Amino acid sequence: MVSRVIPVDPFDLVIFGGTGDLARRKILPGLFRRFCTGQMPSEARVIGAARSEMSSHEYQQMAAEAIREFGGGRECEDGTLDAFLERIRYVAIDARGTGGWEDLQKLMAGTGRIEAYYFSVAPSLFGDLAERLQSYGMADDDARIVVEKPFGRDLATARELNNTLAKYFDEHQIYRIDHYLGKETVQNLMAVRFGNMLFEPLWNSQFVDHIQITVAETVGVGGRGEYYDKSGAMRDMVQNHLMQLLCLIAMEPPARFDPDAVRDEKLKVIRALEPVEPHHIVRGQYEAEPGDAENQPDYRTAVGNPRSSTESFLAMKCHIANWRWAGTPFYLRTGKRMSRRSSEISIVFKDTPHSIFGDEAGRHRNVLSIRLQPDEGITLGVTIKEPGPGGMRLIDVPLDMTFADALSHDDVETVDAYERLIMDVIRGNQTLFMRGDEVEAAWAWTDPIIEGWQARGEVPKPYDSHSDGPDAAEQMMKRDHRAWRKV
Ligand code: NAP
Repeated sequence: MVSRVIPVDPFDLVIFGGTGDLARRKILPGLFRRFCTGQMPSEARVIGAARSEMSSHEYQQMAAEAIREFGGGRECEDGTLDAFLERIRYVAIDARGTGGWEDLQKLMAGTGRIEAYYFSVAPSLFGDLAERLQSYGMADDDARIVVEKPFGRDLATARELNNTLAKYFDEHQIYRIDHYLGKETVQNLMAVRFGNMLFEPLWNSQFVDHIQITVAETVGVGGRGEYYDKSGAMRDMVQNHLMQLLCLIAMEPPARFDPDAVRDEKLKVIRALEPVEPHHIVRGQYEAEPGDAENQPDYRTAVGNPRSSTESFLAMKCHIANWRWAGTPFYLRTGKRMSRRSSEISIVFKDTPHSIFGDEAGRHRNVLSIRLQPDEGITLGVTIKEPGPGGMRLIDVPLDMTFADALSHDDVETVDAYERLIMDVIRGNQTLFMRGDEVEAAWAWTDPIIEGWQARGEVPKPYDSHSDGPDAAEQMMKRDHRAWRKV
């Protein structure tokens, strides 16, 4: 299959925090891959900006190293890296001061290109950057800003951040990134749901027994301990990534695939989420890896807080109070140091109302599984007869829509969520970015749950390293006569 790459319009992308981890691991290598495919036009420029003093040449060398280390995938023609590096500049700038701002202003003046500013810095600097972009005349109507997570740590701080950004930029200029929405499979989920007649009539509580969303990591908190301990799985994963996935599964069909139509429907889902009962939540903290506690310590040691009550694992049962989903639970689960690195959404359909083959033939539910990682793909489990002369025995087989096999072409394999989303910023398409009211609604649902844990002084349950989390998470499913799927 031949990939169609449509170049975007010429742009200047300023990466504030251009020397940081995210810029080196994702943004610069991603832009380079877009350059290789011809999607990033040869006139476009990338401007790194951070406090460190360095020349554009030194920054280009840093970018080249990052691309070699994290670039992966695509082989480019000889000379392409040099051509890309020529498009890179660097400005030493202090988000909180005045140094460097006039240099940036000069660089950006009167180019006629699309201007995008990526805030790849700590959220505490977002307001300073927005304010200076305006005071130095770089916040014109067509300019866009990209802001990273975390977007607030509760409703009050998210609202404050929204209000601050709104002083300098209009909502149509603000791109709040959630890289889960940039994944090929997540967009394919919408194509499968709304591009086929097959699924949508069954997509409701009459036919769907329950839905599971699991995002499991094998790694612990690593070097992010101090940050993570103030956050936990609820703030770091559920309020944003899992919530966004839940919205795409649960939302009504939007009238059009356009930013406001899609985001309006997602917002309705968040607002329809019921408060979660405490006994429908299991929180956990991982234990040390037996025999390797030095390298893989327990959660509290890793974050340097022996009395920490922050969760590294969370499982919860949620309900959406609307006609489509009343009675169909959504089970969310995420955790660190789990047995496998895997992210999957499973739509588990109900049993057939009656088996004409009898119980001895076996009975299987249809499950539509949307795998985000490792191997992105969509699988539908269907029941067929076991081949052979053994009579009518039923087995479950996957109808596999794995992209690597069925849809493979060079571009799909190498496009990372970040580069896809950056191209959407340049195209001015906000469909896959969170709107301010969505983020606030998500915090409004999350806050009382976290406040409840604090008020009750709840402590997370310990769980074995590289397991499926605390037993209580299994018990929660058993009580409902269900089980977590092996992901
Ligand atoms: P990082 O490695 O700590 O980098 C921070 C960057 O900000 C550096 O380039 C730093 O360079 C610059 N900086 C710090 N203070 C500054 C100031 N006053 N003025 C101008 N520049 C300043 O952080 P990161 O991991 O790249 O993360 C950046 C943002 O992305 C954060 O909001 C983070 O939560 C978010 N994020 C990161 C990841 C990831 O995988 N890393 C994933 C999701 C979200 P100087 O010290 O030279 O100024």
